Amino acid sequence: MESSDLYPITRLAAAREAAAVAGLDALLLTPGPDLRYVTGYEALPLERLTCLVLPVKGEAFLTVPRLELPAAEHSPASRLGIEFVPWEETDDPYAAVAARLGGVARVGLADRMWALQSLRFRDALPGAEQVLAGTVLRDLRMRKSPAEVAALREAGAAIDAVHAQVPGFLRAGRTEREVGRDIADAIIEAGHAVVDFVIVASGPNGASPHHELSDRVIQPGEPVVVDIGGQMPSGYCSDSTRVYCLGEPPAAFAKYYDVLLRAQEAACDAVRPGVSCESVDAAARDVITAEGYGEYFIHRTGHGIGLETHEEPYIVAGNAEPLAPGHAFSIEPGIYLPGAHGARIEDILVCTEEGGERVNHRPRELVVG
Ligand code: ZN
Ligand code: ZN
Ligand code: ZN
Repeated sequence: MESSDLYPITRLAAAREAAAVAGLDALLLTPGPDLRYVTGYEALPLERLTCLVLPVKGEAFLTVPRLELPAAEHSPASRLGIEFVPWEETDDPYAAVAARLGGVARVGLADRMWALQSLRFRDALPGAEQVLAGTVLRDLRMRKSPAEVAALREAGAAIDAVHAQVPGFLRAGRTEREVGRDIADAIIEAGHAVVDFVIVASGPNGASPHHELSDRVIQPGEPVVVDIGGQMPSGYCSDSTRVYCLGEPPAAFAKYYDVLLRAQEAACDAVRPGVSCESVDAAARDVITAEGYGEYFIHRTGHGIGLETHEEPYIVAGNAEPLAPGHAFSIEPGIYLPGAHGARIEDILVCTEEGGERVNHRPRELVVG
């Protein structure tokens, strides 16, 4: 996929417009998903300041350490026609940005800007109120373009290819860590640039939603929750959970796994434009609560996904945001019985005019091997 489709140069103007509407004087975007979204530049997050300065009135420029200039010039940011302003090791780049910006009353800082940098900007721009750039960029970033949806489908296919191999990695007698290493290798082999996380939660560990890997030896007959994801070279992320069982599962587990399957299906079916995020959460939660497992579903139903694994919109009670075409998010209800076992089923969906389109297609039934 061409970076011009995925990271169109029109984003600079769109971000400026959104900042103006929100009453900001400038956006200050340091390396991370906000900068990549607006420019396509995957800059290294360093203590030395790299920053896109996007004033509402005036010319945008990219401040870069002299030694990063070649990388910036070879990045998609070079298509934007903005000035690159290199700084030398003995310069104060914060003072230089402040001098060029002039008087500003409100600036939007990249959500993932380090405190190391935001506090330096506070000193360099003492009169300026600092707000999160995310409040301005969220609507843009939430509505995925057709090229972004294609990138999410590609990420979905890649993580599906890894799940297809998991039964071959899981054997009683192996540790979670050994299985996790094989999975991490497979995530890269399937085309990801980065492994974001590998959760292999066997038996009682399955009751902890974010358990990662341990040296616990996997036992016959145990359910194993496998939640994995990575970032593709495109920048877009994958995230999918399936549950495997080495032999026949405990009867109590099989009973609530069926409930979970219905809950996940109900939430996916609820997805369409105009429906609120909280009602999609309720669609899953109501099924689980009606069967008496409500107290064991201890997290929100899902999170947005794109350049970050967790971003807006969040599928959670209290979020009345209506879904719109292009919104992309996980549907991942779970049931967790402390000390015993747990289960979660997770797919990424894109909201289309017709309803929810899943980008993950592995069977969702319990995989008994
Ligand atoms: Zn999670
Ligand atoms: Zn996940
Ligand atoms: Zn997730």
